[in-house]
Amino acid sequence: MDSSARLKLNLENVRERIAAAAQRSGRRADEITLIGVTKYVSDAITRQLFDLGCHDLGESRPQSLWSKAEAMPDARWHLIGHLQRNKVRRTLPCLALLQSLDSIALAQAVSAEAVAMGRRIPALLEVKIASDATKHGFPPADVRAALETVAALPGIELRGLMTMASLEGGDDAARRDFAALRQLRDMLQPNCPDGASLAELSMGMSGDYEIAIEEGATMVRVGSALFEGLA
Ligand SMILES: *Cc1c(COP(=O)(O)O)cnc(C)c1O
Repeated sequence: MDSSARLKLNLENVRERIAAAAQRSGRRADEITLIGVTKYVSDAITRQLFDLGCHDLGESRPQSLWSKAEAMPDARWHLIGHLQRNKVRRTLPCLALLQSLDSIALAQAVSAEAVAMGRRIPALLEVKIASDATKHGFPPADVRAALETVAALPGIELRGLMTMASLEGGDDAARRDFAALRQLRDMLQPNCPDGASLAELSMGMSGDYEIAIEEGATMVRVGSALFEGLA
């Protein structure tokens, strides 16, 4: 099987699993956005994935996002990894959604630059939910304050929350983490500031996206499962 046939099969398989998990959670498949995470693959494979109909693509390093977005400006690009403040200016023009807004200082820098460009940048607050998290993000206890601060920034349009599950502990730990993010969202929702939304929950990767959907994910970020068996 050539690589594009294999990629097509993988994508169909992931989409079927998304649909089944959505159904189990009482939702339709089209309520879940698949973000194809292309950080492992070349521009050529990324283009094939786009041509197969996966139009939301994610990169975790800003430099990779720049070059892939330049090659594929018609995709909706998501940054899912840490953004250094000195890379904000170059990154914003490429972005459909900044999923990894992980500090107030970054939010202020993004907002200032967005205002200068005459844009509002859609963004998710990254939450450090996992017990073994060494990564970036707001501790759950800080999300309410962050929400209020970020919602007041003129250059950011807040759309929801993003997280990564614990690396250890398997499916049970992942489910607990995803449920915790959903509960945090549900708790904050009634007092969500005007102009901001908490509708989106970006959670779940190749190993746990079905669990994430069962627990309320509206976006899943899937990389390796799409590229299995590709040369
Ligand atoms: C790499 C990455 C993914 C995709 O991981 P896979 O396990 O390959 O699906 C999702 N989210 C983030 C933040 C990542 O860095």
